[in-house]
Amino acid sequence: IDPAGQKERIINPIERPSVTQELSENVILTTVDDLYNWSRLSSLWPLLFGTACCFIEFAALIGSRFDFDRFGLIPRSSPRQADLIITAGTITMKMAPQLVRLYEQMPNPKYVIAMGACTITGGMFSVDSPTAVRGVDKLIPVDVYLPGCPPRPEAIIDAIIKLRKKIANESMQERTPIKQTHRYYSTTHS
Ligand code: SF4
Repeated sequence: IDPAGQKERIINPIERPSVTQELSENVILTTVDDLYNWSRLSSLWPLLFGTACCFIEFAALIGSRFDFDRFGLIPRSSPRQADLIITAGTITMKMAPQLVRLYEQMPNPKYVIAMGACTITGGMFSVDSPTAVRGVDKLIPVDVYLPGCPPRPEAIIDAIIKLRKKIANESMQERTPIKQTHRYYSTTHS
């Protein structure tokens, strides 16, 4: 029907305004990067790794009150099945080689959230402890630092959201397949 209502005429379907509208509502244009990143950020599987009191807050996050499964996060007990490690607690010199080994056993691409003052700087043990590692980033590369003593579960959720944003902006070509994992410890010899 002519918009002016004066007469009837045949209108070419591709000239109909609704065609553009239908296309925008039913066709999704994206890149391989976006699709790949969307699938990864929607199903991060964290390795359970807690060495001290910070892990109590992480354990609370798993419960129904905070329900972090809604982000697609499923805790794993094997590094082979994990692509995220949240280091929750003090890292000691004795624990360092084991942490590096666990990280190296995780498949790429993989991510690290350093949770709590002890993990990030050594915390209160950084003053005179002979055994505390002064920063987990001396062992493995950290993607998100989460300060606090301890950080609340809401703060962990915020760190995960920040990590998801980081993943969303990554390029498959730019991300190094195998990252340099550690400077001071090697699991290839002991
Ligand atoms: Fe415990 Fe605080 Fe250290 Fe976390 S940052 S492991 S809560 S002392």
